[in-house]
Amino acid sequence: MDPAQMSHKIVCIECGWQGLLDDRPVADNAFEPGSDIDDCPTCRQIESLRVACDEDDCWERVTCGTPTPGAYRHTCSKHRPKTNGG
Ligand SMILES: [Zn+2]
Ligand SMILES: [Zn+2]
Repeated sequence: MDPAQMSHKIVCIECGWQGLLDDRPVADNAFEPGSDIDDCPTCRQIESLRVACDEDDCWERVTCGTPTPGAYRHTCSKHRPKTNGG
């Protein structure tokens, strides 16, 4: 899969729900039209969703953002890309 086409994985820190960013429900907000709310589809906690590691089969929360020649990677500390000179 082309990494540029890949949807970010997201995980709920409250209930552990795992999905893709595209699956995330965007709640209608009557008070602030256009703003999206990170609303977990399972436990309904607001702002409980976090982006998960880019690495396949890893659902750790992202702790590192690392620019690489190909793309900007969002990974957990374990899967942080090696960078030259770093
Ligand atoms: Zn949840
Ligand atoms: Zn990882």
